[in-house]
Amino acid sequence: MTLSDTQLPLILIVEESDSQAQALISLLDNAGFAVRRVASGEEALSCLDSGLPDLVVSDYHLPGMNGGQMARQFRMNAQTRSIPILMLTEDEAPGLEREGLESGADAYISKSAHPDLLVLRIRALLREGSDFLQAEEAGRFRRARIVIVTSPRSDDCEEETSENANWARDAAGASLGELLWRDGHTVTTVTASSELINGAWLGGEEGPDCLVLDLTSRLLDGVNFCRRLDARRQDVLEAGGTSFRILGIVDADRFRRHSAADLFDAGLDDLVPSDIAPDVLALRIRVLVRRKLAQDEIRQQEIKRQVREVALQTAQSEARAIAAKAAMAEALAHANAELADANARLIETQAKLVQTAKMASLGELVAGIAHEINNPLAFTLAHEETIARALRKLIDTEGPLQPSQLTLLEKCANRIGAMRLGLQRIQNLVLSLRRFSRLDESAFQDTDVVEAIDTALALLAHKFGREITVERHLTAPRMLVCQPALLHQVVMNIVSNAADAIRSRAEVEGLEPGAPSGKIVIETELRQNEQGANYVISVADDGPGVPADLRARVFEPFFTTKPVGMGTGLGLAIAYGVIEAHGGSIDIEDANLDGGHGVGACFTLSVPVRLTPTGPVTIGRSA
Ligand code: ADP
Repeated sequence: MTLSDTQLPLILIVEESDSQAQALISLLDNAGFAVRRVASGEEALSCLDSGLPDLVVSDYHLPGMNGGQMARQFRMNAQTRSIPILMLTEDEAPGLEREGLESGADAYISKSAHPDLLVLRIRALLREGSDFLQAEEAGRFRRARIVIVTSPRSDDCEEETSENANWARDAAGASLGELLWRDGHTVTTVTASSELINGAWLGGEEGPDCLVLDLTSRLLDGVNFCRRLDARRQDVLEAGGTSFRILGIVDADRFRRHSAADLFDAGLDDLVPSDIAPDVLALRIRVLVRRKLAQDEIRQQEIKRQVREVALQTAQSEARAIAAKAAMAEALAHANAELADANARLIETQAKLVQTAKMASLGELVAGIAHEINNPLAFTLAHEETIARALRKLIDTEGPLQPSQLTLLEKCANRIGAMRLGLQRIQNLVLSLRRFSRLDESAFQDTDVVEAIDTALALLAHKFGREITVERHLTAPRMLVCQPALLHQVVMNIVSNAADAIRSRAEVEGLEPGAPSGKIVIETELRQNEQGANYVISVADDGPGVPADLRARVFEPFFTTKPVGMGTGLGLAIAYGVIEAHGGSIDIEDANLDGGHGVGACFTLSVPVRLTPTGPVTIGRSA
């Protein structure tokens, strides 16, 4: 906040004399500054509470504390430390200027100097900014690089040489370079030339911090030289370097009689007369350099801050990316859990379907088996009755056996043989049933394919009757690692469907019951492909076949073409699931069997087989 609401830079004038203050106010007002005036150092310090000025112009001689003491107070206060202070005095004594500068003033101007000089110095100080404070607090200033640029002189010139000029050497004979060197700076002296301006040395890391220009020679067009230097300074700035400061030394007469606007306009930062005392000049240079180094330091700190900011932003965006990934992973885990849930429900439904189909086929099976058992049982019971009757007759007989009785005995023996046959058929059925129940498990295990197919055929025998013949061509290895369901449910369903298909065709054709109506061909073989071996089981019939447009649909659950109460539509759906669990495939083609009655359907099951150190393994996920 400033003392004024205006956007113009606010200058606080500290001047006891009303007339001089008035002259200053109108000068600065005309130059476009907002101005406030106080009459003493104490007043200046107390008015700071209501707002800070951008710059202070103070008379050195003040009632109460002098300008130097006031400047020191400004520098001791953290809030006001960075406000540039320009000291004015009528006194030409070099000691005053030294004290003013050492107390913390940023520039010193004699009241007798051209009025323009005051405005130009104010502008130059405001241009430099007031940031140096923060850098000063960081306290990491390096040695400044100062270059003294002397004027070229002609041989016959009666002018004073730079070497002998007042500013160049103090009373004790110490050169300006020496004085600056004692301050800890690196000092170089060169003669002004075009090469100097064009040289790369002005930019880069090792470029100068301050150029001290001797502009006293008539051989040097000072304004032009400054302008060209300033242009180079802009180049350096644009290339990312820092700008050096330029301090000019002009002829003392010119300094007092002419405006220095042209030189400041050309880019000069500070201007001193040639009769300035070397130690005061060294002080002026020190103040100029101090601000330049401060700005360099601030720039470095800003670069570091930006680097830190970028690193922070990168870290933050990485953190955001990680958080997004975590959220995605969480969503994925959630989706996976839902999927697992759905999968579990699906497996449950599938299991229920399997159960339903099992129950349905069990009903069919039980009916068939009851029929199978009933026949041998009926004639065994009839034979038992015949035998019992004959035996009773023989028991009642007295004396040796008559030939007719011997014939009766023989008949009994024959009947007993027939009974044995019937009982054996029942025993075989029971054996098949036991195998069937034992093999109906989902674990992969060594399975005897031939035995399993025989069992299935035995259980389906009632379906074949005398009308349907079954051929077996089992060329694949007998043992296969698979789920027993592969043979007991899948193969059995397919063979059962084949029998139904043949019967339905026979019915359509109106064949007599008992007349040969068709055949089923069951084959196994090992087929080699690029991935390894496949165990292939095919079941072909000479029924009506499966129309091409139904081949995909027959695997749908509940798809059936059988009459109500005859089909569940689940047999092939279950077969599909079991084959999938083996990582295999199931295909339907026309069978076109040799000597067949119809197109026929051929169901081909194919499951991959791999040999491992522990034996043949069927690849696929377990159901
Ligand atoms: P279901 O036997 O209870 O009808 P499936 O899923 O076993 O159920 O069979 C579905 C349908 O596929 C059958 O209704 C039939 O239309 C057709 N199908 C199956 N096997 C054969 C075959 N060998 N010949 C002709 N059609 C068949």
